[in-house]
Amino acid sequence: MSLAAVPGVNIVGAGLAGSLLAILLARRGFKVTVYERRPDPRIATAERGRSINMALAARGIRGLKLAGVLERVMPLAIPMRGRMVHEHDGAAELQMYGVRPEEVIYSISRADLNRRLIEAAAELPGVEFQFGQMCFGFAHEKNLLEFRDEVSGRIHHAAAQPSIATDGGGSTVRRALVEREIATVREEPLDHDYKELTIPARDGKHVMDPNALHIWPRGGFMLIALPNPDGTFTATLFLARVGQNSFEQLQNAGDVDGFFAREFPSARALMPELLREWFEHPQGSLGTVHTRGWHMDGEVLLLGDAAHAIVPFHGQGMNCAFEDCAELMRMMDEHHGWAGLFEAFEHERRPNTDAIARMALENYQEMRQAVLDPEYRRKKKEAEELEKKDPNFIPRYSQVMFHPEIPYSRVMSTPN
Ligand SMILES: Cc1cc2nc3c(=O)[nH]c(=O)nc-3n(C[C@H](O)[C@H](O)[C@H](O)COP(=O)(O)OP(=O)(O)OC[C@H]3O[C@@H](n4cnc5c(N)ncnc54)[C@H](O)[C@@H]3O)c2cc1C
Repeated sequence: MSLAAVPGVNIVGAGLAGSLLAILLARRGFKVTVYERRPDPRIATAERGRSINMALAARGIRGLKLAGVLERVMPLAIPMRGRMVHEHDGAAELQMYGVRPEEVIYSISRADLNRRLIEAAAELPGVEFQFGQMCFGFAHEKNLLEFRDEVSGRIHHAAAQPSIATDGGGSTVRRALVEREIATVREEPLDHDYKELTIPARDGKHVMDPNALHIWPRGGFMLIALPNPDGTFTATLFLARVGQNSFEQLQNAGDVDGFFAREFPSARALMPELLREWFEHPQGSLGTVHTRGWHMDGEVLLLGDAAHAIVPFHGQGMNCAFEDCAELMRMMDEHHGWAGLFEAFEHERRPNTDAIARMALENYQEMRQAVLDPEYRRKKKEAEELEKKDPNFIPRYSQVMFHPEIPYSRVMSTPN
């Protein structure tokens, strides 16, 4: 069916990609219905212990700009100009992300960003949000999506018309495509989990440099902290599930306290609520989802984490999902039918999402270990000097974070 002939587009999932996509499609004149399983975040409070803040970089900013929402989002963002590496003895060194003042990344609250995007989408004519609607796959006919109202339990259907599934890493729509043998999936779980904790403010102010992403790299594991506008930091511990130095070993308050005091003494001193939070906050799992077959007959397309969830170590999952949205809009100018558009989207995006999936895994090693290595630091300084002198030389990290015009697949072919 031609793009213009459809009555509207359904989006499943009003997370980061779904809400941005709703704005972009509505601005192109489409009627958009967004189905989201959670309650309306403009009324409900955010879940505790979820990834509270995240790094926003140039690829994500490009998507926000295209949707015309950058100005309403950036007041929420705190620039981070480098990583502050905290060594075991308490020494801390700032390693700059870029060589130019504008080469910074931003810490932003996931919940606040999502809320602003939903607010902006809801203001547009033609966008309708249906919250508390859980999609659980296709109904008996394959072009009908099935939903359950989470309050009343009522089951209802929506014609695919088409539908774009942005229902995240655990996507139900992806599972339905797999069941119909349209998609194949390979899940690559990471053997490290994470837990989010807080470094509170002192007198309403940040207790460390607010314009840095703080890392306590310890070889096999690490703690990181990103600033929030209220003076707090959200800290995240990444640690093996089992074995030596693992979540499995941290069973009681004494274990947790001893581990933090031994491995992260400078951070431990800033975390008075550590023990309460440790037992209240969930232990999250991480992994990469490799999917082939992102679309069905011009009726359904997977986008964002639903198509390609990655580990968070390059801070690119959301950025890549926003880039998906921008790229889909660009391709809409080149395609007249949904089936061709969806096919081209997977064809062009998959090599790029495969590339960032790999680079994200590699970056875990860099963040938790290499940044401590004097040889790594020497090479990084050399690369910075070269970049200042030669504008054609752009290190791989900068290409990912600051150069959205370079596709991820091309970045990966650059020596690291
Ligand atoms: C610890 C951690 C840190 C991260 N840090 C960063 C970072 O610094 N920078 C970065 O760019 N990325 C980061 N990410 C990745 C980022 O969170 C994701 O890539 C991003 O949220 C993907 O957006 P999405 O819209 O595809 O999925 P999501 O944001 O997960 O949204 C999915 C939405 O679909 C809804 N939904 C799910 N199932 C259904 C259903 N069956 N029916 C209806 N609705 C449904 C959900 O409720 C949700 O609202 C991090 C991830 C983790 C886990």
